[in-house]
Amino acid sequence: MLKTNNLGYPRIGALRELKKANEAYWAKKISQQELLEAARTIREGNWKTQQEAGIALIPSNDFSFYDQVLDLTLTVGAIPARYQGFALERASSYNLELYFAMARGFQQDGHDVTAMEMTKWFDTNYHYIVPEFVKNQQFKLTSEKVINEFNEAKQLGIDTKPVLIGPITYLLLGKEKEAGFDRLDLIDGLLPVYEAILGKLAEAGAEWVQFDEPFLALDIDDKTRTLYQTVYTRLAAAAKGTNIVVATYFESLRENAQIALSLPIQALHIDLVRGENQLDELLGSIPAGLTLSLGVVDGRNIWKNDYEASLNKIKRAVDALGADRVWVAPSSSLLHVPFDLDLEDNEQSLPAEIKNWLAFAKQKLTEVTDLATLATGDADSTITARFEANQAAQQSRRTSSLIHRDDVKTRVKNITDADAKRTSQFTDRKTKQQAKFNLPAFATTTIGSFPQTRDVRKWRADLKKGAITQEEYDKLIAEETERTIRLQEELDIDVLVHGEFERNDMVEYFGEQLSGYAFTKNGWVQSYGSRCVKPPVIYGDVSRPNDMTVYWSAYAQTLTDRPVKGMLTGPVTILQWSFVRNDQPRSETTYQIALAILDEVQALEKAGIKIIQIDEPAIREGLPLRKADHKAYLDWAVRAFRVSSSNVEDDTQIHTHMCYSEFNDIIEHIAAMDADVITIETSRSQMELLDAFANFNYPNDIGPGVYDIHSPRVPSKDEMVKLLEKAKAVIPAGQLWVNPDCGLKTRAWPETKAALEAMVEAAKTLRGVTAAV
Ligand code: GLN
Ligand code: ZN
Repeated sequence: MLKTNNLGYPRIGALRELKKANEAYWAKKISQQELLEAARTIREGNWKTQQEAGIALIPSNDFSFYDQVLDLTLTVGAIPARYQGFALERASSYNLELYFAMARGFQQDGHDVTAMEMTKWFDTNYHYIVPEFVKNQQFKLTSEKVINEFNEAKQLGIDTKPVLIGPITYLLLGKEKEAGFDRLDLIDGLLPVYEAILGKLAEAGAEWVQFDEPFLALDIDDKTRTLYQTVYTRLAAAAKGTNIVVATYFESLRENAQIALSLPIQALHIDLVRGENQLDELLGSIPAGLTLSLGVVDGRNIWKNDYEASLNKIKRAVDALGADRVWVAPSSSLLHVPFDLDLEDNEQSLPAEIKNWLAFAKQKLTEVTDLATLATGDADSTITARFEANQAAQQSRRTSSLIHRDDVKTRVKNITDADAKRTSQFTDRKTKQQAKFNLPAFATTTIGSFPQTRDVRKWRADLKKGAITQEEYDKLIAEETERTIRLQEELDIDVLVHGEFERNDMVEYFGEQLSGYAFTKNGWVQSYGSRCVKPPVIYGDVSRPNDMTVYWSAYAQTLTDRPVKGMLTGPVTILQWSFVRNDQPRSETTYQIALAILDEVQALEKAGIKIIQIDEPAIREGLPLRKADHKAYLDWAVRAFRVSSSNVEDDTQIHTHMCYSEFNDIIEHIAAMDADVITIETSRSQMELLDAFANFNYPNDIGPGVYDIHSPRVPSKDEMVKLLEKAKAVIPAGQLWVNPDCGLKTRAWPETKAALEAMVEAAKTLRGVTAAV
């Protein structure tokens, strides 16, 4: 059997025990001791699961109460100044108070410290806490978590491989909080801490340590490349008896291959799911003495591994390197997949045939050990039977009528350029739309959702439980919708929305009504801290058997003479926030969804809904990690949006909405989406990012968010007038709309009313000023 290696395991617990323990601790419902105990139980369970599965290199220090980058920040003592008084006063032996204050902010007992910033971990939906660096940054070994957890496992009789983010990746993940330095230059101060950790781990008896360096598989400059050599030469010297494995994932090494292969380390992990084609090149130039850890089992998706395809790769490596220099592993940490498929027992939402195509973290461990055994021909009859079952599952996926629908595939194949293009140019459409809607300058609208109060959520839960009937539920939703329409009329908003009260989530709501989708009961994946998401699963060709939103939009439109905006989620966002098929390109799946959304757009149009918003908040996060791949992605992503929105009348007004704040590098692609109106998040940056729209001469209409909906704070009319003045300075007034940053579902009613009232006043002030000129 080949050696097996795991990079990291989900730590939220099979039934989200860590989430529950953390939240109970924050609410002061359990003691610190109880929280620590809950965490210890999860770690022990994870180690034993991996041991029982037969994993040789079991990770430790992959556990985290909140985030592994924050753990490291505390470990190396990069504690931002604002926490320092707090730390001295409050820090317990475990530093938990300080740790959570850095993660979540702290407002109590006279302290008011803000949380550290959070951002996406590469192209995953996991968010890490961004290290903050200053010019004169000091580092010092401040937490021994990595050593403690190694010892904890050892006491259970399990030898583990401690996992740490490598020093270069750690610095690159951070942010310079003042001008005048390059954070990579902090390496000299940081390395002694890593050396000290290596010393302690060697003393504790660690045979291997894993340094995660995903940046080795990304676009880096020459300076960084050179630094890799210097840094790992020093770490290798400090490691004494401990061996080093450097882990890369989420991409291929490409032009960094020679650097990675020449590091003075004992093993290199590569991602052969994302970087499938890098194997042969690496095998051709790998130096003697370096072991290759093959990431063949997908750490990012939930499909059963194809044993034959993986064995093919593994055997090529064994032929080139010999069995003792090849490890079998998941492609990345299993943090990004749900815990255990065996917990799924809901035949209704996840039929047995579909379940048989899936593997979650626990199942992936068995896949790794199966492959390691099969590769050397040591398989007994049980494993041989599993191989056969695995191949049967692959075969069933290739042919199942649950997945494959000729009508859907043909429709995608027949998409023409004309299908991805509005009939007339924007200026002509604008004239016709203006004739139809006769909206004032600085037209006001909102982004779609209104407060999802506890009541609204309870009605949905009651309906699910059977505590109320569908009729009772519909009546409640209808009343809430009507109240919201009346309110918007009273506020004098120009383009109304129905409020989205019938929706749980902007992707799940559509997934539940599209065919080709399945749902899990416990398929949770950590998103940030104690937050988890349960992405729906696209398993088959997607189509739309029935209307999805027409009923509520049309109902809302019957209540008012003002236009009510239809509200849809766009194809790229639906794709991004689901587990997606790996048996066809992402673009293919996206086009299928785009056609389903188009069907809905046309049904809305027919029902008299002539302003339709197609939200694409996730279009930017779908960007590939390597710049060289951006254009290809943007081309199909934009085209898919256009397919979903083009086959409509000239006087049907298409809106889109996005909520992120870096538009500069993709502005021309956003323009190419050719939505009549785009509403975007801008208020937190004080409209700064509108510069991108101005420099580029954005052709269509724009609603820059004039207030931040992420906070309950009610902005004043004057603040919003100022922001609109700023917007007007860079974008012609005739192109501007007035709206909040994003949907209002997380807000309460009182602040929502007050803020919208001020917003409409601000718009009217602007109209007055512009009219007077
Ligand atoms: N229409 C959605 C809402 O208002 C948009 C949400 C989003 O941008 N994430 O809730
Ligand atoms: Zn938004």
